[in-house]
Amino acid sequence: MREDALEREIEEILGLRERREKDSELYKIANEVFDRTTKETLAYFHRRGKIKELYGVISTGKEANVFAGVDDRGERIAVKIYRTYTTEFRRIWEYLAADPRIGYLPKDMRKLVFVWARREFKNLQRAIKYAVRVPEPRAFRNNVLIMEFIGGELPAPRLKDVEKDLEKTDFEELYDFAMGVIERLWKRGDMVHGDLSEYNILIHEGPVVIDWSQATVKRNRVSLELLRRDLANVSNYFRKKGVEVEDPEEKFRELVEG
Ligand code: ATP
Ligand code: MN
Repeated sequence: MREDALEREIEEILGLRERREKDSELYKIANEVFDRTTKETLAYFHRRGKIKELYGVISTGKEANVFAGVDDRGERIAVKIYRTYTTEFRRIWEYLAADPRIGYLPKDMRKLVFVWARREFKNLQRAIKYAVRVPEPRAFRNNVLIMEFIGGELPAPRLKDVEKDLEKTDFEELYDFAMGVIERLWKRGDMVHGDLSEYNILIHEGPVVIDWSQATVKRNRVSLELLRRDLANVSNYFRKKGVEVEDPEEKFRELVEG
């Protein structure tokens, strides 16, 4: 695609052609992180109606930025765009190298990130199969992942953001939810999230588990370590909130042996 045509399409996606000002946060972040591949990929989705517009920034991180948008049918979407240049290269490489589902590992960082994005998409599809509430995955290509937007007018808050307003019984319910997720994933899905915490649970008409980039399968040689980590994090958090939690090591043995 010609450079100027591509730029025009990106401006359309960002709503710059009409109303949005060039000093908005959206524009700044886009300018900083949309490289050529990202622009081409967004244009690809735009032409197919999967992304009509991106209208806001939900989150900026080391590894990815998450945008709020709409598709051609007017449905809201969350678009996770992984940085093609990241200081997390080493960590990503190690996680992928341990995953038995991944055959060939590209040496090139950009292509490695594509594999990382595809893996998160697959993880979301797999988690849904085992009745874990997650943002429904819609599409992925290169470093761009489109999924269901979780939230109302605004993006849903994380458990960490709303904890001050919760009561003991809420924490008890959420603890049961989190343990149920760990158990179902492991026993039925042969899978582990690997980063389950108050930061990766959104609250919107109940809890929704996000951020599946590091999730993997039981066959992975590090899966036990990840399972143990999830159990420890969840137990520590809810213990501090006054929940009578099960002993995570005992739960670990039960899951692994049972
Ligand atoms: P971080 O390093 O901040 O954890 P990350 O790269 O791991 O970021 P995620 O955790 O997947 O990425 O997403 C970052 C943030 O974007 C989340 O904490 C959440 O607030 C928001 N978010 C992600 N997915 C959605 C979604 N489907 N709907 C609404 N908000 C979302
Ligand atoms: Mn996260």
